[in-house]
Amino acid sequence: MNNDRIVINDLVVFANHGVMKEEKTMGQKFMVSLSLYGDMSRAAETDDIAHALNYAEVCAFVTEFTKNNRCRLIETAAENIANALLVAYPILERVDITLKKPWAPIGLPLDSVAVALTRRRSVAYIGLGSNMGDKKGYLDRAIKAIEESGVCRVLKVSEYILTKPVGDVEQDDFLNACAKIDTVLPPQTLLRLLHDIENQAGRVRTVRWGPRTLDLDILLFDDVIMDTPELTLPHPELVKREFALAPLAEIAPYAYHPVAREYAVNLLERLR
Ligand code: ATP
Ligand code: CA
Ligand code: CA
Repeated sequence: MNNDRIVINDLVVFANHGVMKEEKTMGQKFMVSLSLYGDMSRAAETDDIAHALNYAEVCAFVTEFTKNNRCRLIETAAENIANALLVAYPILERVDITLKKPWAPIGLPLDSVAVALTRRRSVAYIGLGSNMGDKKGYLDRAIKAIEESGVCRVLKVSEYILTKPVGDVEQDDFLNACAKIDTVLPPQTLLRLLHDIENQAGRVRTVRWGPRTLDLDILLFDDVIMDTPELTLPHPELVKREFALAPLAEIAPYAYHPVAREYAVNLLERLR
């Protein structure tokens, strides 16, 4: 990503964020500052507004959104504004936002209080699997649910492939696939969204590695490496599983595995 950005300073919006009753009913002044990162080279080269991020429109969008999306905390309000911008304007790669509350009612002389945060668009690869009931239907609906979450876009979907179950549990064959998505969510929040979608598909967790209507794993998330009780990235079994690597290599042969330090296509070749 280059460093091109549009900077908006102290857009004033009258809105009703806050914890206290007067804040909710009477409202108060907020100021929004933004650095909007994206590739502006096309606009710069052509001097054509059609290729530019229209900052008048952005300001109107932020004003409307800040008024209508009422939050108790400015942390939440700021995060929601940043996410809404990333979703509404695909040209944006990253949003830095500072949300100021110049009239913060704390009973002491104070110029303003503010939160500042950064949100960015990430690319992730999701492994999908189903081995119960209408397997194709479960995968189709999962892709649709990811798209309709409003916080992800589905960029590519692999072929659906039928695979033999691995492990000791006697169970039906799997239908597997991989989807490339971009998302404004951090990895843990994306995992929660995927769990919600699994639950809506009637997934019940009985035996580990047992039959399931829908399984959604995060295979890769940018080049993030992490290992927590809830989430390991890249997915720890990815390099050992042909049913996950093959659809990944189909849609993204040069997806990079930051631990193995190899491209998907090479990992698959080695496994085979
Ligand atoms: P496997 O993880 O070996 O593919 P599974 O998909 O059958 O097995 P689940 O029961 O679906 O296992 O998930 C168990 C837990 O794994 C989840 O609750 C989740 O917190 C954790 N987990 C860790 N890393 C990941 C990841 N990269 N993607 C999805 N879940 C993960
Ligand atoms: Ca899995
Ligand atoms: Ca899983």
